[in-house]
Amino acid sequence: FLSGRTALVTGSTSGIGLAIATALAAAGARVAINGLGDEAQVDAARRQVHDAGGGDVRHFDADLRDPDAIAAMMDKVANWSAPDILVNNAGIQHAVPIAEMPVGKWDDILAINLSAAFHTMRAALPAMAAKGYGRVVNVASVHGLVASANKAPYVASKFGIVGLSKVAALEYASAGSRDSGGVTVNCICPGWVETPLIEPQIEARRDGGTREDGVRSLLGEKQPSLRMSLPEDIAAMAVWLCRREAHNITGASFPIDGGWTAQ
Ligand code: NAD
Repeated sequence: FLSGRTALVTGSTSGIGLAIATALAAAGARVAINGLGDEAQVDAARRQVHDAGGGDVRHFDADLRDPDAIAAMMDKVANWSAPDILVNNAGIQHAVPIAEMPVGKWDDILAINLSAAFHTMRAALPAMAAKGYGRVVNVASVHGLVASANKAPYVASKFGIVGLSKVAALEYASAGSRDSGGVTVNCICPGWVETPLIEPQIEARRDGGTREDGVRSLLGEKQPSLRMSLPEDIAAMAVWLCRREAHNITGASFPIDGGWTAQ
């Protein structure tokens, strides 16, 4: 149902972003991928998305800490094919108490997890409104809805992107029509998802035991299902939000968290 559509997914050389890019391609979209990694990792990501069956796939390289690099990337993507779907997914984490948080980590986490989404949305939303169809899916976190200790910049960035998404949703609420699909801006708020991002936290919880012991300790504290999500589980919701039927779902934040935020 996405043939003829173009999607840009930030941070799609790994984890949740790669799964979302792959699922959008499988639904027929042409996909612009972005993210760090050596040539082999970028090539592998591009091949995986391509093999999922969409149209053309290209990697647009930009370090999302740099607003000029983001502006250049948005120009290049628009010249290739203006995005109908924008997924702000790139994100990093650093878990230590505030007093020990390096100032540079605060700056980087806010830049990648929050400011980058402002820059990409600012560039992409007007063309979506002109077409009457656009989807912004921001990958926030349960940490955009509730806090945990030791994650000051991460929680601040994720609460920030939930707020930013609501503002954009309001500004574009009346763009397009029910037939064209409208322009919507939403957040997905995952709990624990099995990706490289959380491996250091699993490692820190092993306490001399196995990786499984680390997972159990981590999830036992917060995620009542005691199951991690797979990146594909998050991708399925992102794809669904791109459907025409989702035209009136905007400014919302969807937990996929095994009951974490129900507590
Ligand atoms: P990941 O580490 O597997 O992937 C992160 C992606 O972001 C990679 O493609 C990486 O290259 C890219 N990236 C990092 N720094 C970048 C930069 N400066 N410029 C451009 N790209 C950059 O992580 P993930 O777990 O897939 O996380 C994806 C998103 O999901 C993040 O926003 C994260 O906060 C969120 N999230 C993850 C979990 C989880 O449990 N894994 C839970 C909730 C939310």
